[in-house]
Amino acid sequence: MIKFLDLKAINDSFEPELSCAIQRVVDSGWYLLGNEVKLFEQEYAQFIGTKHCIGVANGLDALRLIFKAYLELGLMNEGDEIIVPANTFIASILAITDNRLEPVLIEPDINTYDIDPFKIEEKITSRTKGMMIVHLYGQNAMHPEIKRLTKKYNLKLIEDNAQAQGCYFGDKRTGSLGDAAGNSFYPGKNLGGLGDAGAVTTDDDELADVIRTIANYGSKVKYQNLYKGLNSRLDEIQAAILRVKLPRLDYDNQRRHMIAQYYLDHITNPGIILPQTRNVKGEMLNMAQPNQVLSSLPLALRLDHVWHLFVIRHKRRDDLQKYLTENDVQTLIHYPTPPHRQAAYKELNTLNFPITEQIHREVLSLPISPLLTDLEIEEVVGSINDF
Ligand SMILES: *Cc1c(COP(=O)(O)O)cnc(C)c1O
Repeated sequence: MIKFLDLKAINDSFEPELSCAIQRVVDSGWYLLGNEVKLFEQEYAQFIGTKHCIGVANGLDALRLIFKAYLELGLMNEGDEIIVPANTFIASILAITDNRLEPVLIEPDINTYDIDPFKIEEKITSRTKGMMIVHLYGQNAMHPEIKRLTKKYNLKLIEDNAQAQGCYFGDKRTGSLGDAAGNSFYPGKNLGGLGDAGAVTTDDDELADVIRTIANYGSKVKYQNLYKGLNSRLDEIQAAILRVKLPRLDYDNQRRHMIAQYYLDHITNPGIILPQTRNVKGEMLNMAQPNQVLSSLPLALRLDHVWHLFVIRHKRRDDLQKYLTENDVQTLIHYPTPPHRQAAYKELNTLNFPITEQIHREVLSLPISPLLTDLEIEEVVGSINDF
């Protein structure tokens, strides 16, 4: 069986450094808000290119803390509207509604699956205070039109960078493109811990300070509480683990890119719609073009898609998945039900987002792990083309 993502093998490939890092924390006798978190925050901020990184408990908390801090700062108020893609993992929307803000869902571009920049402006009202973009599947969702709108309407731009650690937009990394970004280090993400972990990245001194305080019971000085805070801290053990894994992230993303390139070049089954990517000018760029052959590119390539997921579409998606399972290829669906169709969002159930719904009916995620062997990749392609 070719696994969708062999997490054990991935983490084994970081040994013995991973176990040493864990042991170092055990031996230190210090488990929260210590040196490992401080160093990881510095290293990740430097990696992303922001002034601040605040380690928190998970990716959802990173996102909801950003909004909570804007509420505390008086820059947003309950009931304000936040633009967000309809086609996303539910966490993006939970972060908004958890703060009693109003999500305004926008259809994706059917080619990139990211928010359609040209469907946003018609939904902006006097109550719109922010916009969240989600770099879905690892593909940069930034676009010149998004920049124009945030400037014109004075909107806070929040990035959901959970799936795109290491991704570039021009010469900047995602996670540094807006006012603040939520990052997730859930074990299956491109940079994953051995448990839950997350971080906010931002250049905003005041926002960073408020988020750090809220995440620690709303307290800067022990037992003095400035805000009705949360307990959302990054563990020393997770920080130590992430410090071992961060230096290999660009390399691993490069390997994902090579696998994606192989899939794009060799999947020829006419029923399958392959993913497309676009360059920073916002033009469509079919990755299968010969001028995009990876072997001619340097290792320091600035990827605008880090291939957290390699997602194809097929009209008979469920049949295809069944066929691949029978042929020992494990696949997953990201995601089977869109947020506006979930029981949790009854108030959104009557809305129609035909493109989002079509995507959810047709998508299938192929195995893409930096450790897949060439032989395994060939087998995946063979099975897909045989379908
Ligand atoms: C994983 C993910 C999150 C949430 O991260 P957690 O660490 O699991 O809380 C948020 N948004 C997107 C798009 C994600 O994929």
